[in-house]
Amino acid sequence: MLLGDYHTHTTYSRSGHGKGSVEDNVRKALSLGMKEIALTDHGFRHGAYGMTKKAFPKFLEEVQAVREKYPEIKVYAGIEANFISPTGELDIPPEFADKLDIIVAGYHKFVRPARGGLGFHLRNLITKNSRKAKVRNTDAYIKALDKYDIAILSHPNSGCKIDLKEVGKVASAKGTYIELNGKRVSLTADELIALADLGCRFLANSDAHSPARVGDVGIWKETWVASGLDSALIHNYNRLPDLKLNGGKNDGNAKQKS
Ligand SMILES: [Zn+2]
Ligand SMILES: [Zn+2]
Repeated sequence: MLLGDYHTHTTYSRSGHGKGSVEDNVRKALSLGMKEIALTDHGFRHGAYGMTKKAFPKFLEEVQAVREKYPEIKVYAGIEANFISPTGELDIPPEFADKLDIIVAGYHKFVRPARGGLGFHLRNLITKNSRKAKVRNTDAYIKALDKYDIAILSHPNSGCKIDLKEVGKVASAKGTYIELNGKRVSLTADELIALADLGCRFLANSDAHSPARVGDVGIWKETWVASGLDSALIHNYNRLPDLKLNGGKNDGNAKQKS
């Protein structure tokens, strides 16, 4: 069984994109017997769904409240950050950088780019599968892995093509997990095998946008079985992962006690 779900959305993902509250997701995870959960709403520069800077302090308060109410589960405050430039910048405002336990990074469209980042996004929209776009995306991913403590790369290769081997090598070296995303199968069985050969480790996360979907990763079953890989490589399946925490901070429990 899944013991943690590290990519879930709440109503802090704006415009009705996320359906449930922080507490709703935590309660659902508890009902499934999970030991850990992360709340990872869309990053601040997502044009439609991003969390607002104004709402962020309230989000943190809610996370703290559920930690106190449900001490039996570890709750991480996170963000699903967006790539906003070819130099690997993510949309994490500096003033919030040390408030996040975990950073999930994923490519999304319709994001307000950083200076010089417009072309990066337009190329992915217009010439999606071009070799040049892939080289640029790969470079952005590798630079971001270097700049930030990224715990998880969400849905790699979805919306923006990357060189999986190049990114996988760096992710493996940095201790960043590759996600099996519960909403979309973004990797083939052969790609999973290639990533595993590079030493990559995986997390199966729901990417739930409603509490009912927390813990739902069934979409991957067929591809995973086809890969023939050992389920021990999925680090939240029957075990708890060794998450790379943002800024090398202590884990959620340690924080809870302070
Ligand atoms: Zn996403
Ligand atoms: Zn998501």
